[in-house]
Amino acid sequence: MLFTAVAALATLSLSAQTQVIAHRGFHAKEGSDKNTISSLLNAQQLGVYGSECDISMSADDSLMVVHGSMHPDRRIPAPHRVHVTKDVYKDIRAISCEGGNIVPTLREYLVQTKKYPGTKLVIEIKNHKGDTPERQKFFTKKIVEMVAEFGLEKQVDYIAFSKIICDELVKLAPNNEIAYLNGDFTPAECKQRGYTGIDYSRKVLREHPEWVKQAQELGMKVNVWTVNKPEEIQFFIDLGVDFITTDNPLETIKLIEASQKKHKKGKSRK
Ligand code: MG
Repeated sequence: MLFTAVAALATLSLSAQTQVIAHRGFHAKEGSDKNTISSLLNAQQLGVYGSECDISMSADDSLMVVHGSMHPDRRIPAPHRVHVTKDVYKDIRAISCEGGNIVPTLREYLVQTKKYPGTKLVIEIKNHKGDTPERQKFFTKKIVEMVAEFGLEKQVDYIAFSKIICDELVKLAPNNEIAYLNGDFTPAECKQRGYTGIDYSRKVLREHPEWVKQAQELGMKVNVWTVNKPEEIQFFIDLGVDFITTDNPLETIKLIEASQKKHKKGKSRK
């Protein structure tokens, strides 16, 4: 009986532990870039819970790992930069970034994801200016289908700013974690729509710290983005969020471990 109680407590404290998601991969490591195979590999080797990436669709319907609507290489002056959603695959792939990395495809990312089953791929499905609801539903379906083709359903979490995309995910991937990014729904409203988590900015969660507990009491996960400064990382560890999305995974791991040690010491003194 006592053993069961202790085991239950241990499970509880384990589940309460904050975990790390590397924002666009662990790109801070030398030679890497955001949203590249290299940053994904670095995150996998670091052994964090997940590596986040952004998926956008080119004009010829290729799923690319890229954040903005423009090609990420800022050495090219704006008028000449390739537009990710208005240009085609061939043009996006023709340019390399400063570190020599090229914009990967989702397919290449999933090949790499499969090599490290212990690290989740957190897929942010981007919507850009001009994407109609039909277009958003179209690429959401294509992404879910490609994940299924690789048999990676259990190794993928989804996040999106768009309600249309999140609502579509509820229909197409009901067994996946689906977290809403935009910050304008309460946890109860997200729950009602079928989302499994909130993934809100540090600003939103500082304004609504009560949403962390509210969401968790509804059985939802709480993720916060993008937290890089040590004092702010510590603030969100203390607030008890489930995940911290960060460009600074090394510092975040260190602070989580230090907090756990302190917590254990505090317990043993009681
Ligand atoms: Mg993102």
